[in-house]
Amino acid sequence: MNMMKTALVSGSNRGIGYACIQELLQKGYRVILTARSEEDGKKAVEKLKSFGEVHFHQLDVSDEKSVQRIAEYVENTFGHLDILINNAGINYDTWHSAFNADLEEVHQTLETNLFGAWRLAQAFIPGMKKQKYGRIVNVSSGLGALSKMSVGTPGYSVSKAAMNVLTIKLAGELKRKNILVNSVCPGWVRTDMGGAGAPRTPKKGAETIVWAAELEDKGPTGKFFRDMEEIEW
Ligand code: NDP
Repeated sequence: MNMMKTALVSGSNRGIGYACIQELLQKGYRVILTARSEEDGKKAVEKLKSFGEVHFHQLDVSDEKSVQRIAEYVENTFGHLDILINNAGINYDTWHSAFNADLEEVHQTLETNLFGAWRLAQAFIPGMKKQKYGRIVNVSSGLGALSKMSVGTPGYSVSKAAMNVLTIKLAGELKRKNILVNSVCPGWVRTDMGGAGAPRTPKKGAETIVWAAELEDKGPTGKFFRDMEEIEW
């Protein structure tokens, strides 16, 4: 029986998600690279094939049916998922303030950054429970920390703070099931979202995310990390 662990990363055709896939492949995991666009996803898979066992499946986390399709694919192809990295994220809305934010845009941000992660967790937790093993990493942000709520990015900050609460809720419920759920801030990373002036490489951004995906049994759960150190909610 193949005991290779299977990991899925949302939004992994570029940026930090892509770097997570590369890192996990190098560590010997079977990975499922996912993207909203088939074309972008398949191009990314081509670049990574030489690193190990990488599969592609379309995934738009804001689309319930797309999440159902990938859950069925994982169950039929691999039986279950060991590691879920909720990385897909949008709308670093630095130019807005809460009192004039476009609520339609905020709604879309929550749909992706919060409900997307929640949908995937719901889709894969039943299989993880059966295996008595699971690692869920919610890629959050320091801007979701409660002490940072007075500065810009209203939609983004609210979405990441809410994601952090989801982390705490799920971790509490799954504590005795060997399913560890944590939030990770990757730091300020040079991607399309982070911009060219960010100090960190995507590889550096992926470091703590992959670390949290590999925690040993009885490891920390319901925590918030950056650079492998616990940080304040
Ligand atoms: P990028 O903008 O470079 O990449 C975002 C990824 O998410 C893309 O693959 C994008 O796909 C995907 N995505 C967006 N919406 C959806 C959706 N509905 N369904 C599936 N995939 C989707 O961002 P980063 O790599 O910088 O960010 C990754 C994560 O890290 C995000 O959650 C972000 O909030 C977080 N983060 C980033 C920081 C930074 O400095 N960069 C700092 C702190 C946190 P597509 O190509 O189709 O658009």
